[in-house]
Formats: sequence, structure tokens, C-alpha cells
Amino acid sequence: MSKLLETNLLPAYARAPVTFVEGDGCWLTDDNGERYLDFAGGIAVIGLGHRHPASTRAAHEQLDRLWHVSNLYWTIPMMELAKKLSERFGGAQSFFCNSGAEAIEATIKYARKATGKVGVVALEGSFHGRTMGGLSITGQPAKRSEFEPLLGQVSFAFLNNSLSLRAAALADTGLIIMEPVQGEGGVHAIDVEFAQAARALADELGALLCFDEVQTGVGRTGSFFSYESLGVRPDLVTLAKGLANGLPIGALLVADGAARGFEPGEHASTFGGNPVACAAACAVLDAIDEELLANVRQMGERLSAGLREIPGVSDVRGAGLLIGADVGGAAAEIAAKALAHRLLITTCGANSIRLTPPLTVSAGLVDQALATLREVLT
Ligand SMILES: *Cc1c(COP(=O)(O)O)cnc(C)c1O
Repeated sequence: MSKLLETNLLPAYARAPVTFVEGDGCWLTDDNGERYLDFAGGIAVIGLGHRHPASTRAAHEQLDRLWHVSNLYWTIPMMELAKKLSERFGGAQSFFCNSGAEAIEATIKYARKATGKVGVVALEGSFHGRTMGGLSITGQPAKRSEFEPLLGQVSFAFLNNSLSLRAAALADTGLIIMEPVQGEGGVHAIDVEFAQAARALADELGALLCFDEVQTGVGRTGSFFSYESLGVRPDLVTLAKGLANGLPIGALLVADGAARGFEPGEHASTFGGNPVACAAACAVLDAIDEELLANVRQMGERLSAGLREIPGVSDVRGAGLLIGADVGGAAAEIAAKALAHRLLITTCGANSIRLTPPLTVSAGLVDQALATLREVLT
């Protein structure tokens, strides 16, 4: 069956040979009825676990009420979600869209409009999405080269190197953008000093500082926003992956007090603010409390400590339940082997594996994943 369907899909992805039909908590079931432990979490998307009762109920109830009316009118889930995000941020307005890349597009346009400057400073090794704008500010030549020319006036600084950040600044820099922890780029965190240097540079240049929290946000690193541990407040924040526990959604948050950008009619997304996605996202925000965030930190430490004890694993890094580790060989092969052992993990670079299980994961399942990884790696 799957072979027949494959021929009708563009080969944009390197998919593993497995077809999933059901999810439940940290578990997935394939079309042969085999169960898998999910430490990929749909690439840091399934924060509450598959089919979490709260987000499932919220989406169901909204499905039975109203699916879509467009952004020509108001809907309640969208307004509620914006209020909840503003409360988490401490005063912000939201623009809703459907993916991380779309949130990045909104950011690029917003910064241009608000500052009147087109220059962007981003980081080497960064990832901001696959659209032409997102790719233009993604510091990974291999992903870009086939699609050039991209946006001009983008320069790249080295992670945690304040001097190179300053050197990368262009005369007309309107946007400085970085992930608090680079996810796709190998799980590398920015440090407090670098974040503060970015804040100071943005203020000096009259640029906006954006933290791309598409992967790190919504509890993934142990606080609601990952930047909370940096002691720096951004002007802009992008969210997407974990925001609606698997339904498509993206958001750009603009801090109250940041330079004003869009006027009505200057940016839009037909599906943005979809009531079903927003209802699910409201349930996700309600579920992310201190207890869950404490679980993220504790399980993150347990997983990291366990990984460090496995021979052949080195440089275990990350925050909360966004963890990367070097495996001294082809990570793709390790991920394939883990899949054969019924454990889903992802890679982030040629020799690094990445673990992003649901934030609700238990100590028992962390230990089970570690036992499987030990088998696969030794
Ligand atoms: C995944 C990701 C994106 C792109 O999100 P899509 O929903 O795939 O478009 C952008 N920024 C970061 C930090 C990401 O991890």
C-alpha cells in the first residue's frame, strides 16, 4: 500500500520506511500494529503527548462549533490565545499564521516596516525555515545553495561571539534574530553575555531583537519562553512547533512598547488564527504550569545524565527536553537503528542525535529510551 502512495508525493523528504496510524501519549502505532516510543515528538511539536485529553477536547469542541471565517471578522479562540500569550510575555500583541516559516516571514516584514531598515543580522548555524525569506536568514550554506539568489543585506555572526555580532551589523540593520538554543543547527545554546550584547546592539542600531522560539518555546527548554533564562527581553518572539500540540499554527509576538509596524492590510494569512488550532493552543497554554515545567527540567537532566554514561556518546548539550549529543559516527544510521528498535529520535547535523520527547514524559520512559540507545550505540 505505502509503495503505491509514495509515487504520488514529491520526494522532498527522506522518510523512514514506516507508516504511522495512531498516537497515544509518548507512543505511536504503525500500520502493522507495532508500537514505538516517540522521542522525536514530531520534531519538538507534540509537547503534551499524542492525543492529550485537554487539547483534543478543545479541538473537538471547536470543530463542532466553527472552523473558519477568515480574518475579516473576529473569533473567540484567536482572541483568547492572544490574551494568554500576552500574559505569558508580560504585554505583547500577536499575529497568527500557520507555521514557523510564516512567523519568520511576518518578522522580516514587521522589522522592515517598523524600523525602515532592510538589513538583517542572523547567526551561523541557525535555522529559520525553508521559505525564501526564512532561508535567506538561515546560516546553513548547504540548505541555501540550490536556491540562490536569496534576500540581500543579510549577514551572519558566530554564536556566542559578541565581536563578530558587532562586525556583522550593517549600517541599515533593522533586525537581529537568533534562536535561544539552535535546534536544527545542532542544539547549541546562546549564553547570557551574548544575549545581552545582542540586546545592546539592537538598541544602539535602532533595530528589533527577535528570538526565534519556534522550537524552544512553549515549555520545551523548561520555561515557557526559553529566553527567560537569559535575562534579556526581546522585541519580537516567534512561536510555532509546540504551540497547538500538533495542529498547524505559528505566531509572531510583538512586545508592547516595541516600534509599531503593521497597519491594517499590510500583512495577512488566510488561515492564520484558525479557530480549531487556536482552541487547541489555548488548552496547551493552560496545561503548561509550574509542575509540567519542573518535569521538563527533571526529565531533561535524567536523560542528559543517562546519555553521558553511554560509551561513544560525547558532548551532551541542550536545555530541558531539547537535547543533542554527538555519537561519533553517522547520526542518520543511529536514528535508523533506533527506529528498528522501536524508538524514534531525530538528528541535528551529520554526527549528532537530537531528543525531543513530549514534555509529559515519565522517568520510566526516559530510562526505557536510554536502555534502547545504549543497545543501539554499543
Ligand atoms: C522548525 C523551525 C522553523 C520553521 O518552522 P516550519 O513550521 O517548519 O516552517 C523556524 N525556526 C526554527 C527555530 C525552527 O526550529
